[in-house]
Amino acid sequence: MNSINRLFVPALLAVTVAACVVSPTGRRQLALVSEDSAIVASEEAYAMQIGELRDAGKIVAESSSAARRVDAITGRLVAQAIEMRPETADWDWSIEVVDDPEVVNAWCMAGGRMAVYTGLLQKVDPTDDELAQVLAHEISHALANHTAERMSVAIAANAGVLLAGVLSEDSQRAMSNVALAAALAVQMPNSRTAESEADEIGIELAAKAGYNPNAAISLWQKMGSVSGGGPPQFLSTHPSPANRQQKLAELAPQMMAYYEQARRNAPTRSIARAGD
Ligand SMILES: [Zn+2]
Repeated sequence: MNSINRLFVPALLAVTVAACVVSPTGRRQLALVSEDSAIVASEEAYAMQIGELRDAGKIVAESSSAARRVDAITGRLVAQAIEMRPETADWDWSIEVVDDPEVVNAWCMAGGRMAVYTGLLQKVDPTDDELAQVLAHEISHALANHTAERMSVAIAANAGVLLAGVLSEDSQRAMSNVALAAALAVQMPNSRTAESEADEIGIELAAKAGYNPNAAISLWQKMGSVSGGGPPQFLSTHPSPANRQQKLAELAPQMMAYYEQARRNAPTRSIARAGD
């Protein structure tokens, strides 16, 4: 049976029965997949996807300056994510830098499994404050359960065919249905409402980790001006909500107190690698 059918039929039976849950900002979310199911499925999807990339020599070495920089920023953000949602201390927070200079992207699956692509680091050329905003935004999607929401959409839309180019056919055949949905979820666009939620949570998370809130504004400006090879993948999976710049500009001054306090002494948490 091909992956499309595998994704569609049994997944609906296997996962938590259709329900609505409420996001942190009080919005009702489609919840064919519970967050716990999404976390388990994401573990499988992440191991498969990172394994394939590692076999292809596309995972940047842990000892490289790029990986160390990403780890340091992520560690401070994760410490704040756990402050915000204490049960996420049990998540297997991890991040890998994917060596693909053409891909301007970053994502975080349910359960805190993340990736950032060298294309984003090179083409957007973010400062540490701006890179922290990218990663905080991604973490916020996971904290707000958006990944499970997109998995639900993936299953409901029977959208397995879109996985081509993300995972080999062999891997797709070897994976459970919900894991396919988990791999697909981070390739699908967020809703503009989910974007606004992630902007709001992300700028606070980053400020509390000691990163300048004004970088949220300059980051999206830089992202929008990346040239060559069409718009960055990041912008297709993170569509711009109405008045993004204006809302971030309104939020930034409110975050300055967190930032000023945290920049002097922000705690960190060590981050695992997928191979650990
Ligand atoms: Zn987003």
